[in-house]
Amino acid sequence: MSQKKLSIYLHWPFCLSKCPYCDFMSIPTQNDDELFEKYAELLLLDLKNSLEKIDYDFQIETIFFGGGTPSLMSAKGIEKIQKFLQTKTNANAEISLEANPATFDSQKMRDFKNAGINRISLGIQSFSDTNLQFLGRIYDSHQAISSAEIVAKIFDNFSFDFIYGYECQTIKSFEKDLRTAINYDCKHISCYQLTFEEGTLFQKKLQAGIIKTISEEQEILFYKFIDDFLKPYGIFRYEISNYAKKGFECKHNLAYWNYCNYLGVGPAAHGRIKSGNYKYATEKIRNPFEWAKAIEEKQETYSVFSKLNEEEILQEILIMKLRLLKELDLCDLYEEVSKNVVEEMISYKKLEFLQSQGLIKLQNPKQIRLTESGILKLNSIVEFLCS
Ligand code: SF4
Repeated sequence: MSQKKLSIYLHWPFCLSKCPYCDFMSIPTQNDDELFEKYAELLLLDLKNSLEKIDYDFQIETIFFGGGTPSLMSAKGIEKIQKFLQTKTNANAEISLEANPATFDSQKMRDFKNAGINRISLGIQSFSDTNLQFLGRIYDSHQAISSAEIVAKIFDNFSFDFIYGYECQTIKSFEKDLRTAINYDCKHISCYQLTFEEGTLFQKKLQAGIIKTISEEQEILFYKFIDDFLKPYGIFRYEISNYAKKGFECKHNLAYWNYCNYLGVGPAAHGRIKSGNYKYATEKIRNPFEWAKAIEEKQETYSVFSKLNEEEILQEILIMKLRLLKELDLCDLYEEVSKNVVEEMISYKKLEFLQSQGLIKLQNPKQIRLTESGILKLNSIVEFLCS
């Protein structure tokens, strides 16, 4: 039987402080070697148990240490996980780690590299003190610069992540941020628009009128600016918020967007795993302490393990694949969803309507892609198609 490709996501649940816009599962905590060692062991145990349940032969193509702030982990903890996965991992696998500028020095970055990490996703967010203060980040512009220098010196394959679209930010300061990234020969850049998620401090401040959103025109201005600025450097948008030089696209995230199988390990981690003829949506226990208790008591760590029906799969594929901003051939969906379900849900009439609104472009009755206006309305488009 041939080996299936698999991606692995490992969630590290701790950060040094909670950023006011963040709704990820992360608990603010001080550096605590004992706690972190314990959680690295638990992550390994959860990984072992979860892999045992996969009922087919697989080869790991990508591994992603995300969070939270996985750069708080010790390189030793990462190395143990890497060693355990080694025999099942493709020699050219992409092994990424998310890093926060306030959590490492050169030595630690070198140790991460020696432990098997070959790609860093550095959450810079901005190089400007005004912007960093607004975003509630715990480092200043000097630390942002020195962390970028360290990463660029030690790794070839790295990404700088930025947040854009907030009151105090100007196109000029954003341009400075992107230019600094280019000066470090950064070949992958993620630019996420600031969103105000339920339960975050920023959402409360927004409701109280303490902060404001930017206008839709400004949003579009920022979005277009990124594309225009990066293109001359050979860095192209390959997903709504992601830009890369050819060959430096994030393979792990591409696995999500192409709806491949991925195993999510660690508190709150999501996964999509095929077993037999079915695709399953999985989620681990959200609370890290309850998740840890479940492992210690040899209990199940999945809080969700549910079989997806064809309509749900179709909706997920559309949301993921349309993000890639290229032609989506509806015939390619028949591999995952039966032809009659695709045709029943995505009628030509609906597609024509979306085209008339300037939201999608129809190459032929079966090939669609988002337009610039459609990009900003992806969720509503998919909702309309699947209704
Ligand atoms: S460092 Fe990242 S994961 Fe942690 S609170 Fe801030 S945005 Fe969230």
